[in-house]
Amino acid sequence: MAESIAFIDDEFVPVSEAKISIMEPTFTKSDVVYDTLSSCKGFIFRLDDHLQRFEASYSAMQIAPPYTLDGIRRIVAECIVRSGLDDTCITLMATRGPFLDLADRDIRKCKNGLMAVCVPYYWVLGKDKQTTGVNMVITENQRVPMEAIDARVKNFNWMDLTRGLLEAYEKGGDSALLCTPDGFLSEGPGFNIWLAKDGKLFTPRGNLLEGVTRRSVFDLAEDMGVETSEQPLTPNDLRGADEAFTSTTAGGITPVTQVDGKTLGNGAPGILTSRLSEEYWRRREAGWCGIRAEEVLQDRDIA
Ligand code: PLP
Repeated sequence: MAESIAFIDDEFVPVSEAKISIMEPTFTKSDVVYDTLSSCKGFIFRLDDHLQRFEASYSAMQIAPPYTLDGIRRIVAECIVRSGLDDTCITLMATRGPFLDLADRDIRKCKNGLMAVCVPYYWVLGKDKQTTGVNMVITENQRVPMEAIDARVKNFNWMDLTRGLLEAYEKGGDSALLCTPDGFLSEGPGFNIWLAKDGKLFTPRGNLLEGVTRRSVFDLAEDMGVETSEQPLTPNDLRGADEAFTSTTAGGITPVTQVDGKTLGNGAPGILTSRLSEEYWRRREAGWCGIRAEEVLQDRDIA
């Protein structure tokens, strides 16, 4: 029977049994980095790209998970196999872990850990938005500057994104797009942003997570002969775009059909957006950049 599976304290357990202490800096200080991958029809997508980014994130925070990267690779695969699910989202977390001595608050002495959770595939913006499109609010709440929190290190310090999301909901939107303090578009709670103008694709660069799906959009666009550019973009660039979409692991390519409640383009998911999304899922289902969990597990045990 298919069920969500977690890996914690060296064990695979049902998600409901995966618990951490309320005393851990992992929880009290969000002292944890993460990465979210997905599988489609049993194929894990761009596993090594995600692992590389995960390694860069935990190295940046001086967290040393108690497994090699190859061990983590096999933990991901084992979670999927044990879940019995074909279409999943898997989140890896490298945690600061518990203090060994509660009287000594030196975080360098914490016991760093590794957790994983594998759940049925979910759509961060809602699956229904694939057809209707999203009303995206460009928020007054700003993305925290890169000098304070480097968005390329995938983290749970989400106060700016959460405040943006609450502002967007208050304004009647579906989600939020935050700008940098100097007024350029950055990203939203769980996705990168793209716009299309005169047949060309644009996406911001700067303080944002360099999404694996974002990279896949560059690849797809190249194969489809569509020009792309990574450059500073303003809110007015988005408002004046022909089409726009988000990219993320948990939801693929999702059309944006309104900005701040105003119709974008002709108000329907854009033609280029739809072509990219169809091609993305067609390839994913066929195993594009994918590897089967069983294949990862062949020959060796996790250690
Ligand atoms: N930006 C943020 C803040 C995210 O949290 C995510 C994904 O969770 C993304 C962008 C998209 O990244 P990816 O395509 O690797 O899922």
